[in-house]
Amino acid sequence: MQRIVVLGGGESGTGAAVLAKVKGFDVFLSDNGKIKEEHAARLKEYGIPFEEEGHSMEKICIADEVIKSPGIPDTAPLIIALNARGVSVISEIEFAGRYDNSKKICVTGSNGKTTTTSLIYYLLKNAGLNVGLAGNIGQSYAYQVATEKHDIYVLEISSFQLDGMYEFRADIAVLLNITPDHLDRYGNQMQNYINSKFRITRNMAKEDCFIFCSDDEITIEHLNRIIIQAQKLPFSQKSVVEQGACVEGDKMCVRYGDSNYEMFLHELALQGKHNIYNSMAAAITGKIMNITNSTIREALTTFKGVEHRMEKVLSVGGVMYINDSKATNVNSTWYALESIKTPIVLILGGTDKGNDYSPISDLVKEKVRAIVCLGVDNRKIHDYFGDKVAEIHDTRSADEAVKIAASIAKKGDTVLLSPSCASFDLFKNYEDRGRQFKAAVKNL
Ligand code: ADP
Repeated sequence: MQRIVVLGGGESGTGAAVLAKVKGFDVFLSDNGKIKEEHAARLKEYGIPFEEEGHSMEKICIADEVIKSPGIPDTAPLIIALNARGVSVISEIEFAGRYDNSKKICVTGSNGKTTTTSLIYYLLKNAGLNVGLAGNIGQSYAYQVATEKHDIYVLEISSFQLDGMYEFRADIAVLLNITPDHLDRYGNQMQNYINSKFRITRNMAKEDCFIFCSDDEITIEHLNRIIIQAQKLPFSQKSVVEQGACVEGDKMCVRYGDSNYEMFLHELALQGKHNIYNSMAAAITGKIMNITNSTIREALTTFKGVEHRMEKVLSVGGVMYINDSKATNVNSTWYALESIKTPIVLILGGTDKGNDYSPISDLVKEKVRAIVCLGVDNRKIHDYFGDKVAEIHDTRSADEAVKIAASIAKKGDTVLLSPSCASFDLFKNYEDRGRQFKAAVKNL
């Protein structure tokens, strides 16, 4: 019997272990941290042996194949040892893809993955299709492949998952954009990160479709250097495209084969320049999937958005509060600031990942009335913005930040939590930060 070892007992690792077990492998799971109770319970339910808070080399090295959780870097000593022994190390998506003959719509990019994946899923669901949602979102893909049957999957795929993908083939791949992120995992080489993102196009054939942003210079530059068999469908807000999607005047126009779809930009449920891109990617996917124009329109005008992404919380005393806690890099905050038309009180800060704030400098000068720092160490924000905004305040809790922001904001303003930073200095994660923010707003 072939032995599969799964490294990491989170959602993806546990799901992979269940699928391997169901497919008849001898399975062992190892995690060097603590495994959450729900995941341990699932492993026990399927009779899968596991260990936590440490790796036993002797049990791992005898594997025929290893499935590695995306959180474990290739530079971890254990992975180096496995590579040296010639053991194949793959990702959960690669493994599950072997047992899934559904149509696979895969979404990647530096920003907008969850939003676009959710929007495409919503669109296909509305069209009455039997579609699953997985990848970096919700329930593990492998677990669903083991326990459910879908005709189509919409998968959100991060670069870390892509790194462990070899034979996997997407029927439709969406690459939203490429901006520097996670460079610590790529030897500080941007090219390595770009190559990783483009793995989404591996194995694609003539009948497959590759949807990408032709306004994204990094994407275009790389695309000009490689050969992709799939049909290329660009989306752009800057130029007209013959096949794909673009903006003409105040309309979004989609062209696929002989079929067209058009709608006014102001009809889109998700507003802001970044969401026009996300909506265009979803609309092209809809056309490829042969969804009627009326269903596409219905979905794009009624989608409610995803929690913590430009989420409207409440209007209090004429001031709108927006939770964009998921904006953990400067690029996301740029899009948030760009999309808001009123004066803004900006809640910024947290764990800095080496931020360069210059891309948002002009938008801050133009729109931001005051910055409220929500972080332990705010020196960088003071240094950079000290001469660019009238007021900067330091706070250390969501409650305090919201109260100060409320005291500064004037009727008609927006209070925006779009921190450009990770949350770990004061919160468990960005969801925790977003929920505490929303609770504080509701308490005003
Ligand atoms: P991801 O899953 O890639 O992290 P999300 O959909 O969770 O992306 O959105 C993360 C943040 O990025 C949000 O704050 C949102 O405002 C911003 N964003 C969403 N779509 C885009 C896009 N196409 N380009 C740039 N920023 C975006």
